[in-house]
Amino acid sequence: MSGEARDACGVVGIYAPGEDVARLTYYALYALQHRGQESAGIASSDGQTMVVYKELGLVAQVFDETVLNSLKGHLAIGHTRYSTTGSTSWENAQPSYKSSPVGQIALAHNGNLVNAPHLKASLERSGGDPTPRMGQLPSTSDTDIVAGLIARANTGEMREAIAQVLPQLSGAFSFTIMDEKRVFGARDPNGFRPLSLGRLEGGGWVLASETCALDLLGARFIRDIEPGELVTIDENGISSERFAEARYSTCVFEHVYFARPDSTLMGQNVYATRYRMGQRLAAEAPVPNADLIIPVPDSGVPAAQGFAEGSGVPYGEGFVKNRYVGRTFIQPTQSMRQQGIRLKLNPLREVIEGRRVVVIDDSIVRGNTTRQIVAMLKEAGAREVHLRISSPPIKWPCFYGIDMPDQDELIAATDGVPAVEKHVNADSLAYLSVEGMLDSTQIPSDAFCTACFTSNYPIPIPAEELRSKHVLEETLPDSVIE
Ligand code: SF4
Repeated sequence: MSGEARDACGVVGIYAPGEDVARLTYYALYALQHRGQESAGIASSDGQTMVVYKELGLVAQVFDETVLNSLKGHLAIGHTRYSTTGSTSWENAQPSYKSSPVGQIALAHNGNLVNAPHLKASLERSGGDPTPRMGQLPSTSDTDIVAGLIARANTGEMREAIAQVLPQLSGAFSFTIMDEKRVFGARDPNGFRPLSLGRLEGGGWVLASETCALDLLGARFIRDIEPGELVTIDENGISSERFAEARYSTCVFEHVYFARPDSTLMGQNVYATRYRMGQRLAAEAPVPNADLIIPVPDSGVPAAQGFAEGSGVPYGEGFVKNRYVGRTFIQPTQSMRQQGIRLKLNPLREVIEGRRVVVIDDSIVRGNTTRQIVAMLKEAGAREVHLRISSPPIKWPCFYGIDMPDQDELIAATDGVPAVEKHVNADSLAYLSVEGMLDSTQIPSDAFCTACFTSNYPIPIPAEELRSKHVLEETLPDSVIE
């Protein structure tokens, strides 16, 4: 992968009287940093007053002691962002905040709504943004629109307002939401993005995108929030209601690449799943006479170890990674991205020289990064470079919360395997099959979205003219104003 597609955020919600909740939220966001690196934010409340702090940058850059000490209270939500609707700006950082006749609301979103323009039109009909920011640009994120719709809902109570708005949304959403007194968690009916519930030793509750955040806080995993479920956490504990029937189509790419390997998704450890993908790939696409299996670090490591075990060929480190550069996708332009991979990876000539190496990566998006990786290995003296990819070819864009390039930039959308092999200049190239990927999860295959591999989109995708992530910044076509 090497950073050519981006996940779309991590969310946290904590209700824990007696604890330093803002600090716990900060650490949970730290564990979820891989899910979004554009901005970070925390909203907290002491039961009366809500405070929101958000800024562009990594979690460790955004918060310091002074800021954390100002975020008082026993409940909080937090967010790390990568944009899928709306550009990178402070206005689009989260949590989104609104005040309403029934109180204040802060909302953090992981996912992407496919009917955002319709929701925007609906919000405008109901009176528009209830908390416009004087002298500042309006937010252009789908999240801000949802917060506005909840604040404008015609109910006397925040939980009812949330329950009224959720069924209007189409697309992917795992939300953490709070008012002054309660934390809410909700997951879309398809369950595209993960959301887990845990319990702190002292009895407090934690919602987090991934279980690795629960582990960091010492929280015990209780269960996943169900697709179509809204939970409310307050002084009486946790209560649950349904706003829609579950019809599972969770993102298989979370298992392939996005989630951290130490997280558990749908009861399966991510590392173990990726290891099995590597084993299966070794069976489906062996490389005779290979000398060494190497991963593209870090995301290719579990599959490379599985491939080595499955093939009986030794596993080794072929690259040293500069751990302080971050993922290459923090640079926005293609030319910067090309610099990025060399900043990040350096081949180990002593390991590679004169050998037939099998390089394992989890996916190919545009193909340019893969081409550079192959070139670096050949420059370092590799005799042959065979590429094995632990997922199928990505041919279709994602509309459910993963920021992928447009379809015409996806190399496998237009080129077959031989053409991709030629483009990246590998001695051979093979991908894991769709069946191999799904079998490796050890979860029933009908529970998954596989649209970027198969074009089987589980919910209707937007019309062509509405697909841009900047659609809310553009003039809406008349056709979408209902
Ligand atoms: S299209 Fe691909 S990346 Fe998007 S939700 Fe479906 S499987 Fe995940």
